[in-house]
Amino acid sequence: TELLALLASDTEEIAPLRKPYMQPVSVDQLRQALNNNAYEAHFQPKTSCFTGKLVGFECLARWPQKEGGMIPPDQFISLAEQSGLINELTRQIYRYALANLPLTARDQNLKYALNLSPLNLLDQTFPRWLLTECQKNDISPSSIILEVTETASMDNPLALLESLTQFRIRGFQLSIDDFGVGYSSLVQLARLPFSELKIDQMFVKTLSTSEESQKIVAAVIGLGKSLGLNVVAEGVEDEIAFNYLRDLGCDEAQGYFIARPMDSSAASAWSKK
Ligand code: C2E
Ligand code: CA
Ligand code: CA
Ligand code: CA
Repeated sequence: TELLALLASDTEEIAPLRKPYMQPVSVDQLRQALNNNAYEAHFQPKTSCFTGKLVGFECLARWPQKEGGMIPPDQFISLAEQSGLINELTRQIYRYALANLPLTARDQNLKYALNLSPLNLLDQTFPRWLLTECQKNDISPSSIILEVTETASMDNPLALLESLTQFRIRGFQLSIDDFGVGYSSLVQLARLPFSELKIDQMFVKTLSTSEESQKIVAAVIGLGKSLGLNVVAEGVEDEIAFNYLRDLGCDEAQGYFIARPMDSSAASAWSKK
């Protein structure tokens, strides 16, 4: 049970009796869950490094199971991408998130971050659809941040610029996610219309133990700041990391040290405590 608790706590908020769902997922199950409107989102707070105050939430996809527990997104997003279901899935997750924000975005100027699959960028109807969804929920696009992870599939910089621009002109903010690993390049960072950089958690988690991570994080914060970007660190798991980030001028922090992802009502209660 100790191991189960450990596994559960590593994938979701502390709930020792809830074990993570580890069965392989099939495309049929994905599609059925879509038809049943089963996908939801949890919300993880982001706080200012300077004031410690809540600045917003990242919305993270969740797939609750009837028998309890959740399938985490790492176990179904890539299958949705491979099977052509990602556009429909993303819309369902966003619809849920926008209709269930823990606090209205107007409260204290909060920002809500949503994750975008690179494949969503190929769907030309998506920016307009998202604007309409925001309007339906009385949410200003300027309080929505779209987190994009660069991948090898984005090898066409012009097409990428074109689709990112379709979001920018509607007032959405763009964040480059998982910066420092994979394909995110310096040229892309400077030329594409991003207003935020998220340092990959791989470096942040290891800040208290790795001198290498400390150097990389310091350099990335410096780079982001010099490009005028809002710099966010995720995977902040301890006070040492939080203090280090604050001292280097990182703008925002997100991680288990602050809070785990929570359902909407728990996130709302958390923000009021
Ligand atoms: P991500 O966008 O990098 O999201 C951050 C992940 O790190 C989340 O995992 C979050 O729960 C976890 N996390 C946050 N703070 C900490 C911490 O201090 N320590 C540790 N160890 N982990 C922390 P989650 O929710 O399982 O999501 C995994 C990935 O799935 C996300 O990584 C994102 O790439 C993808 N994803 C989630 N929701 C969506 C979605 O709606 N659409 C798409 N396309 N991808 C999504
Ligand atoms: Ca993200
Ligand atoms: Ca990330
Ligand atoms: Ca990630």
